[in-house]
Amino acid sequence: MSSFETIIGLEVHVQLNTKTKIFCSCATSFGDKPNTNVCPVCLGLPGALPVLNREAVKKAISFGTAINAVINQNSVFARKNYFYPDLPKAYQISQFEIPIVGKGNIEIEVNGIIKNIGITRAHLEEDAGKNIHDGNISKVDLNRACTPLLEIVSEPDIRSSDEAIAYLKKLHSIVRFLEISDANMQEGSFRCDANVSIRPKGETQFYTRVEIKNLNSFKFIQKAIEYEVQRQCNAFESGVYAQEVVQETRLFDTQKGITKSMRGKEESADYRYFNDPDLLPVFLDPVLLDEGKKIPELPDSKIKRYTEVLDIKENDAKVITQDIECVKYFEFLVEKKIQPKVACTWLIVELQGRLKNGNTLANCGITKENLYILLLRLQEQKISGAGAKVLLTNLVENRGGNIDSLIKELGLEQINDDDSIIKVIDEILSNNADKVAEYKEGKEKMLGFFVGQVMKQSRGINPQKVNSLLKARLQQN
Ligand code: ADP
Ligand code: MG
Ligand code: ZN
Repeated sequence: MSSFETIIGLEVHVQLNTKTKIFCSCATSFGDKPNTNVCPVCLGLPGALPVLNREAVKKAISFGTAINAVINQNSVFARKNYFYPDLPKAYQISQFEIPIVGKGNIEIEVNGIIKNIGITRAHLEEDAGKNIHDGNISKVDLNRACTPLLEIVSEPDIRSSDEAIAYLKKLHSIVRFLEISDANMQEGSFRCDANVSIRPKGETQFYTRVEIKNLNSFKFIQKAIEYEVQRQCNAFESGVYAQEVVQETRLFDTQKGITKSMRGKEESADYRYFNDPDLLPVFLDPVLLDEGKKIPELPDSKIKRYTEVLDIKENDAKVITQDIECVKYFEFLVEKKIQPKVACTWLIVELQGRLKNGNTLANCGITKENLYILLLRLQEQKISGAGAKVLLTNLVENRGGNIDSLIKELGLEQINDDDSIIKVIDEILSNNADKVAEYKEGKEKMLGFFVGQVMKQSRGINPQKVNSLLKARLQQN
């Protein structure tokens, strides 16, 4: 394998989160009763005319802006002709010669090395419906037909499965930060086709590429690529490359972990593309262009700002920006004047560390306001750090709750006044006269024992005060 170079180009379909479909006003919602969100346009009835959704265009412009791409002020929709039961028109409306987004790039980092991956294009198109195979019968659900997709095509610049995953994660976070898609991989709103080829090291021309279709988890994408690279290398080394590696579409069998031939690969000429006469060429007016180009701050710039302005460690900044939800919590806490480092630790270590079994910030029931009040009470010394942890564990188990009532219920109110703390200390000391004597004979490490006993007695006691008060009482004792 070490004598070959891996070449990968990725095509990613992102489902845009518009309320309605790209060419009609049916809802785009996921999981509804089959064939309820349909109309003559998305059913492909003869004579029904498509009308382009302005929001979908705006979201495509935002994406183009985020990847420093050329935005084509004039783009054209074309018909991609093929028959399939989930495509009643027998053509898909897509873009071919002039896509809305032209050349751009995405920066990735693998093992500390930064690399630019070229984006060839990103175009708008409609999704097809869904075939459901159920024993001997097959059914078709057209709810998904005509939902807006942005297809993002990379240059064959990717050189390993690790780079492919870094690229996909970056792309995923860009569309999530732009909030143009929920990018939910299980629901198919972010799916990837991987084009894979190899060539002997040192050669410059490309060899035959194989396309692996519809991969919908990072783990499977990585496995599929690695299997395919190995298969092609083996074929090359056994002298059967020309027979075994042909331009085709393959599917990844997730059970067996292998790729299997699905069909020969069509060339674009096979689709008989032509401009769709039902749709005018798209002209982006300045107002729409301006709206689309206004984009929120993206992960890379946030990482820079968090480290340089908020003094957060780079690694922590990267963890926060892995997830737009986490960013929202973090920025809310900072805005509310919680110290950035405190906010960071409580968010990514304490809270996220307690989330298990697929629970995420978005669905754990603990709101950013909950976390803010908890940290505020900690800052006001109404609770101790240990108390705050107990409280957080309780919140996670019960999927949220009222912070102030819980502090009372769980007896976590911190005791700050000296008199109350001294009362507890004196009780401990009088119950442990023998140990006090040992301390006085010079066994200074007994102090730790007393601190432990005091804290055990009443977990609300302010730990910062215990040490000094204890020493003072031992001296007077
Ligand atoms: P198609 O629709 O036929 O799949 P596209 O132009 O949409 O064609 O996508 C082709 C993809 O294949 C691009 O991502 C491109 O980078 C990639 N690609 C082209 N040649 C190779 C190659 N030799 N090895 C790996 N990937 C390749
Ligand atoms: Mg393809
Ligand atoms: Zn419709």
